[in-house]
Amino acid sequence: MSKDDSGTPQGAGSRVTHGGRDPFSQHGFVNTPVYRGSTVLFPTLAQLTAYDQRYTYGRNTTPTTDALCDAIGQLEGASFTVLATSGLHAVSTAILSFVEAGDEILMTDSVYFPTRRFCDQVLARIGVKTIYYDPLVGEGIAELFTDRTRLVFTESPGSQSFEMQDIPAIVAAARPRGIWVLMDNTWATPLYFRPLEHGVDVSIQSATKYIVGHADAMLGSIATNERASPHVKRTSIALGNAAGSEETFLGLRGLRTMQVRLDRHQRSALEVAEWLKTRAEVAEVLHPGLPGTPGHEIWKRDFLGASGLFTIMLHPVSQAQLAAMLDHLRYFGMGYSWGGYESLIVPFDCSSYRTATTWNREGQALRLHIGLEDVADLKADLAAGFERMAAAGSSSS
Ligand SMILES: *Cc1c(COP(=O)(O)O)cnc(C)c1O
Repeated sequence: MSKDDSGTPQGAGSRVTHGGRDPFSQHGFVNTPVYRGSTVLFPTLAQLTAYDQRYTYGRNTTPTTDALCDAIGQLEGASFTVLATSGLHAVSTAILSFVEAGDEILMTDSVYFPTRRFCDQVLARIGVKTIYYDPLVGEGIAELFTDRTRLVFTESPGSQSFEMQDIPAIVAAARPRGIWVLMDNTWATPLYFRPLEHGVDVSIQSATKYIVGHADAMLGSIATNERASPHVKRTSIALGNAAGSEETFLGLRGLRTMQVRLDRHQRSALEVAEWLKTRAEVAEVLHPGLPGTPGHEIWKRDFLGASGLFTIMLHPVSQAQLAAMLDHLRYFGMGYSWGGYESLIVPFDCSSYRTATTWNREGQALRLHIGLEDVADLKADLAAGFERMAAAGSSSS
């Protein structure tokens, strides 16, 4: 239980319901309206010259963006929160807030692939070197520090391969050296892990996922502690970052139900994951919330819950068998992103782009997002898929 501004205990459900809302400042209407705008008028020359009123220009802030930043900031326990036009934009803005030519950054090898592409394509071009590290490095991160190390970027669990990082150990190593720690916390959301409370300087969300929650908008957020806030604030403004008004509204709308949605995603995903563990087709289930899974102990120590995304490794199958399973699923859609109300499934292979570690598991990896459908229907859908897979195997041999 956290405390609100007046020091009164307040649960996460109350926070997502009431954070960033002030109905009586808007004629009693419950939801913050969508303020669309570029120009903001100043009533006098004195105020125009001083540029000191609350709203100054649509790109900076609006009452709509303020509402979502307030709400996310409360959940994160942040000093400063800013929105970005996507999760990737939040990642790039956050990293650019701290680096200059000649710096090195340490990047987890399990990171979301487009983050890696940003480092390799953009940071490399401006003279910032990215050094990838084993996500399981823990306190061993200290051995990778040099005089040029500016920041450590973490993502836990990795959103394909589900390594759990020892965030407190990384923070303990980095802090005394003045090295910033950033975290992509999209999987857990601030409801299930609170990075800033664990000493992380910057917590990043692809709000596209669980905050928006309905697969209908792109949005990101960056929440910082006090010492990181001037860096991110300056850079975000300088880069011209401005999340769309409609997307921001959808973020607010989604946030209100995030706790109940996540609760259901969590329970259903654990149930489906447990069941998949018993299936002969499945070699391994990578879900940090499952006892016996790698990373489970860290998850139990640090996290407050698990979301709906996990990976399974199938025993080796042919492409034809895989297609037979995936092409005719009724509830699981095939497509990227996740965090919406619907179930998704995608095959992946992360062995091709890793550089600090090797991904040498045999068989076919499938990432599942468990949506809000009934678990019995989801199991039946997957079971029918496994049957088609087996049939395609026997017809081809
Ligand atoms: C989707 C995702 C992102 C990027 O978010 P977008 O809103 O799609 O740009 C970043 N990190 C993780 C872990 C993600 O899953």
